[in-house]
Amino acid sequence: MQCPYCDEPGTSVVDTRETSDNEVRRRRECSACGERFTTYERHESPSLTVVKRDGEEEPFDRDKLRTGIERACNKRPLAEDDIEDLVDTIESRIRAKDLKSVTAEEIGEIAMSTLKETDEVAYLRFASVYRDFDDVDSFEEELEELK
Ligand SMILES: [Zn+2]
Repeated sequence: MQCPYCDEPGTSVVDTRETSDNEVRRRRECSACGERFTTYERHESPSLTVVKRDGEEEPFDRDKLRTGIERACNKRPLAEDDIEDLVDTIESRIRAKDLKSVTAEEIGEIAMSTLKETDEVAYLRFASVYRDFDDVDSFEEELEELK
């Protein structure tokens, strides 16, 4: 890798450290000017397409998933870290299917089952928005099942 100070192409790695599961930090030293600089390497998440209900496709958006989960967990006793863990779990369950595309319904089902294991109120909130309960009865049934 080229030195950012003098453009010398010969630099060597003096230290390598894993900073997280998918990131490596390297300290490099230029063999010409002796300056040191840092590079970060992370692997790219394989691309995943979401097929929406209307048939339109869009790239999987983790932020969008997080927004939905945050909304469902509003005022629930869950810390920001817990929500981040939830989103991680949901995303890895989606990716574990190892598909190039996934339907919005599948994501919804995975999110719902994950929420159900963690917080039933958040699950119900998410489910009511996601399934778009068309009548009050089905919502009441879900509530009844939880009692
Ligand atoms: Zn240099």
